[in-house]
Amino acid sequence: MYYKSTRNNALRYTASQAVLKGLSDDGGLFVPEKLPVSDKSLQELATMDYKAVAYEVMKLYLSDYTEEELKYCIEQAYDDKFDIPEKVALKKAGGAYYLELFHGPTIAFKDMALSILPYLMTTAAKKNQLKEEIVILTATSGDTGKAALAGFADVPGTRIMVFYPKDGVSKIQEKQMVTQKGGNVKVVGIRGNFDDAQNGVKAMFNDAGLKDELKSRGYVFSSANSINIGRLVPQIVYYVYSYTRLLKDGIIADGESINFCVPTGNFGNILAAYFAKQLGVPVGKLICASNKNKVLTDFFKSGTYDKLHVMDDAGNFSEKREFMLTSSPSMDILISSNLERLIYLICGEDDHKCADFMKQLSKEGSYEIDDLMRSRLKDFDAGFADEAACAEMIKKVFDEDGYVIDPHTAVAAAVYEEYRSKSSDSLNCVIASTASPYKFPEAVLKALGEESSDEELTDKLNEISKVPFPKAISELRDAQVLHDTVCDKDEMKEQVRSFLN
Ligand SMILES: *Cc1c(COP(=O)(O)O)cnc(C)c1O
Repeated sequence: MYYKSTRNNALRYTASQAVLKGLSDDGGLFVPEKLPVSDKSLQELATMDYKAVAYEVMKLYLSDYTEEELKYCIEQAYDDKFDIPEKVALKKAGGAYYLELFHGPTIAFKDMALSILPYLMTTAAKKNQLKEEIVILTATSGDTGKAALAGFADVPGTRIMVFYPKDGVSKIQEKQMVTQKGGNVKVVGIRGNFDDAQNGVKAMFNDAGLKDELKSRGYVFSSANSINIGRLVPQIVYYVYSYTRLLKDGIIADGESINFCVPTGNFGNILAAYFAKQLGVPVGKLICASNKNKVLTDFFKSGTYDKLHVMDDAGNFSEKREFMLTSSPSMDILISSNLERLIYLICGEDDHKCADFMKQLSKEGSYEIDDLMRSRLKDFDAGFADEAACAEMIKKVFDEDGYVIDPHTAVAAAVYEEYRSKSSDSLNCVIASTASPYKFPEAVLKALGEESSDEELTDKLNEISKVPFPKAISELRDAQVLHDTVCDKDEMKEQVRSFLN
């Protein structure tokens, strides 16, 4: 199986090359030449554990990795870093099944992919005779940085450096990062905002002089961001796995369709669900849930992606779209990068057409797809939930089922409830539960009508929810600060040099 770019069909890459490159040189994203179909039946997969299902799914996409290589990566990733042996859990509440994807080291779903990406990368480096050590550079607004640090810490053949806005992340997020252990990690605060950190990292990726200098010293830059196929492919696994658990438990019959509802930001997680459908999982609807930053809802309803204007009830895009901060920060996004892969697929894999849409988006701020493309979006439904609807949902699920969900998951739950009330669709639905409530205790407690001091937030949540403390939270209490470097935004390059000396 080969990968090509969404903006240029002429070049072909193996999976391991695509993992190493991350993004194509033309700015496009890598997509498989042909979406694979499972060679195992769902019944067979239902007899397997998470790691075995992971192998059966990932071997189809990462076909130049040998069985031994892939199984090694899976073993290293899905070990007791996860706090339950099943790696993910399915909990029934309020007429839906919550797929808990937050049992990894940083209690959010990004661990599902970032725990395996370092091994996929170092294996790819060996396969492609890369001599240099891989240096991951990341700018973070909070969550991805910690998940990447946890994934790459002490992985041989890699180093990781994370830049964050010194006054732009939450106290818990900062503490999580600056206490990160590992001989190959470095965390630096920037005097500036997230854009400053991100621009600094981008500038280094494009700095040919710096790259040459580091290459001569045995280093090469790489990125761990969510457009890498090494992050997308591991996410397909849990959709397949969740279907087979419902099958195994007799909740659905073989071949019976289910819906997936996914709290969406960059469109990576829900795209993985779409790929699971192509693989053979019977899926009715893929429900794309957004918060107030509802650019995707507007897109699915109108066929127009407009990052500058918001759609009104009459379907017009005239009012200016404002970027809004919400209690589900990982979904506060106006450009969903991974949507480009879906655009490419529904425009008949026409690289020129896809490149053109992306050019329109960056030049004019919007693009509109045609009717044929829209007709290929029938698998999707979309909706959004504002802050009040999100908080109400947290309270409702807790009051009715004693189950506590985080604000991201609550956005999906609210959108699903609305979908169910307006449609006659009675299929079972799996809601992707993307973060532990312990990651956002303040917003959760507020929604539940509880008050607490900053210091006692997690204790209070523990008392109310009866959910045991995840290790990620209890460890943080007496964790030592190991990183205290703070620099100006124009000193980032020097920081990289000194880290690699
Ligand atoms: C990243 C993230 C999301 C959004 O996932 P995408 O793949 O970017 O759509 C949702 N919830 C949480 C908790 C996240 O960290």
